Amino acid sequence: MIDSPAFAVRLLPFWRESQEASQESDTPARSRLYSLAPYAIETVFRESLTGYINRLGWTHHISPRAFAAEMILPHVMRDLGQPLPGAARFGAHEAMSLNGTGPFATAGVALLNSLTMRTDLQLLTLPWWVGDLPRRGQLRATPAWCPLCLAEWRKQERPLYQPLLWMFHIVTICPRHRSPLLDQCPCCQKRQMILATTNTQPGECTSCGTFLGQDARSFSGDPDHEQQMDWQEWVISVLNELLTTSQACGQLQWEPFFRHLANYLKAHQAYSKLARVTGITRQALHRWVKSDDPYAPTFQTLLKFCYVCKVTPLQVMRNQLDHLQQASLRGTGNDSSLPQRPVRRVVDRECCQALFQAVLDGREEPLGISQVAQRLGYDEHSLMQHFPQECAEITRRAKAYRKQRKEQRFALIGEQVRQATLAVHASGHSPSQHAVQSLLLPGAMCIPESKVAWHAALRELGLESR
Ligand SMILES: [Zn+2]
Ligand SMILES: [Zn+2]
Repeated sequence: MIDSPAFAVRLLPFWRESQEASQESDTPARSRLYSLAPYAIETVFRESLTGYINRLGWTHHISPRAFAAEMILPHVMRDLGQPLPGAARFGAHEAMSLNGTGPFATAGVALLNSLTMRTDLQLLTLPWWVGDLPRRGQLRATPAWCPLCLAEWRKQERPLYQPLLWMFHIVTICPRHRSPLLDQCPCCQKRQMILATTNTQPGECTSCGTFLGQDARSFSGDPDHEQQMDWQEWVISVLNELLTTSQACGQLQWEPFFRHLANYLKAHQAYSKLARVTGITRQALHRWVKSDDPYAPTFQTLLKFCYVCKVTPLQVMRNQLDHLQQASLRGTGNDSSLPQRPVRRVVDRECCQALFQAVLDGREEPLGISQVAQRLGYDEHSLMQHFPQECAEITRRAKAYRKQRKEQRFALIGEQVRQATLAVHASGHSPSQHAVQSLLLPGAMCIPESKVAWHAALRELGLESR
């Protein structure tokens, strides 16, 4: 197995030759990377491709972002004839498309299947779950997670990973815990990078390293939450149905959905009736089913249409339209209305003060203000209006805590650089930056604090004047 991606890239021609040789000599071919089995492949908690790439990097003890930059991007972009994106921008913003549809995801899957000698990594992408819908709006910009799942897995010493379900834009609640997914770190408020960098581990914030799991919180009795739950439980049941069908029959095609809907709308002259029921305009419904140049709605809009009509996408694909018939007969109004935007509720001052005090006294972890707002179920703006001083103090403390964590991390890196410099010197070699870097995680010497620590170690060895 390889030690670093740079090493692996250098091995590429040799590997091809050895694969050919092994084919000739009937020796079983070996994969270049660990052939990790994807997690929970049979369930709605199946792993995402970007989560799998993170895990590959961590298993090989290299930064997942550096791994992608050296092992995946150059080959995929060359095959697609496209310019190479910067590794940082790719890891933070663009890598999500690896989980989606289109040539980039297809090429990424093919390469990873070949590097790991697996045949099933395409299952970690959207087409093998929701079929051939355009990817528009299906995936989040950055990963979300269920803090309760993470805390539970860690407690049970089970592997921490990133399910594809958490990447769906439409999924906002964990079906196992009935609690909201988070997408901002409770400590530093940052969104998560899609591919992690050098110093984080599974389940940790990619910016400040805080563990992203949390213990149970209660949302019962909150009417907004209950309404959201009905909708989300239906979404999960539909995703489950699509997944099961996709597993049994292969990639789903949406063409029958629009064909059957078009036939129904024409035969029953139901455009206006269904427009009234669903809140989707007649013009939009016409565009959905235009045979010459159809305009595919987003996955979210399609599911909302089906939810209000009490029909599943699969039923429409199979021309089982009884429920659609009932919905259009209802004509106006509907009894399964979609959750509305949360209404601003009267602020419970006592409850807010209790949490503020707990955070300020250190009885609670140093939450940022958006995390406090989320815990209390109010929006940030309301909290800042009602409690300007407390909010300012909480923000100040959260910033100080982040600064302290950063300093601790840099001190740790500095000590690692010092130890590596002393080790290279003790082995009789010159402790150049390159030699020291070879003992550290990729990119470690790019951090300014590492260079400071390296110069200090050289001075300690008498190799550099003060
Ligand atoms: Zn959960
Ligand atoms: Zn963080």
